[in-house]
Amino acid sequence: MKHLFVLIILVIFSNTMDSQNMRPLTEQEKRVILEKGTEAPFTGKFYKHEEKGTYICRQCGNPLYNSTSKFDAGCGWPSFDEEIPGAVTRKRDADGMRTEIVCSKCGGHLGHVFIGEKFTAKNTRHCVNSISMEFIPQKKESAIFAGGCFWGVEHLLRQLPGVISVESGYTGGLISNPTYEEVCSGTSGHAEAVEVIYDASRISYEKLTKYFFEIHDPTQVNRQGPDIGTQYRSEIFYTTPEQKIIAQALVEKLRAKGFKVATTITKAGKFYPAEKYHQDYYLRKGTQPYCHSYTKRF
Ligand SMILES: [Zn+2]
Repeated sequence: MKHLFVLIILVIFSNTMDSQNMRPLTEQEKRVILEKGTEAPFTGKFYKHEEKGTYICRQCGNPLYNSTSKFDAGCGWPSFDEEIPGAVTRKRDADGMRTEIVCSKCGGHLGHVFIGEKFTAKNTRHCVNSISMEFIPQKKESAIFAGGCFWGVEHLLRQLPGVISVESGYTGGLISNPTYEEVCSGTSGHAEAVEVIYDASRISYEKLTKYFFEIHDPTQVNRQGPDIGTQYRSEIFYTTPEQKIIAQALVEKLRAKGFKVATTITKAGKFYPAEKYHQDYYLRKGTQPYCHSYTKRF
């Protein structure tokens, strides 16, 4: 009897824990998300929605699709040609014909996926009920990092999901509009740096900065590998007071782990984009950086 009582308490407790992450659903939402119903075509709130951002699961908040994968298939439901990796699970539909798609995290019904219709190059159409999703608008923010040759820093930063664009340039120096030759001479005081535009609704400044510390060696002073000179120093140029606090906390974390961090943290001044032939360097050459690679440090 006593055991039964404990068991009942445990069941109630675990149900409460589960429901904390799950949002309450309306009757209409339950009909689609839990009972695998379908909303009427051309009626969903996201059918013609074109804003930039992320579509998340209505029930559990799991990010499902980026707006960059959305297209108009003319079918009456929002269509996507690619999910966020791992976000969506495919299942044989109860009708034995179609492939059902559900949220990988909570199992909520999303819709169906169709292959081979040739709407886009990915040849895939996720046909999703608007009611199964919510939308988080893109939140553009900028961050500036210097960690040695900008070719390599730029190349690795652009690969991070949530990064919108990267640009190589010069900052932290004494003169306006410096040229590569002036920066290389070491007399202009600039650092080779990369300006990152990222979607703060998809990636945090902390995650971005941790990654920066893991794609260059923050313990090297005025050099990075074979590149020697103050223009190759490790420096974070913060664009908001919040970024400064986050960057300082990460430096402290690394120091607590025994790293002798040389990275300085400075208020961002003017960022001068570098000459065209420095942009997208490795992407254009189709080669890998000689000077940068990923090493886990956190
Ligand atoms: Zn979910």
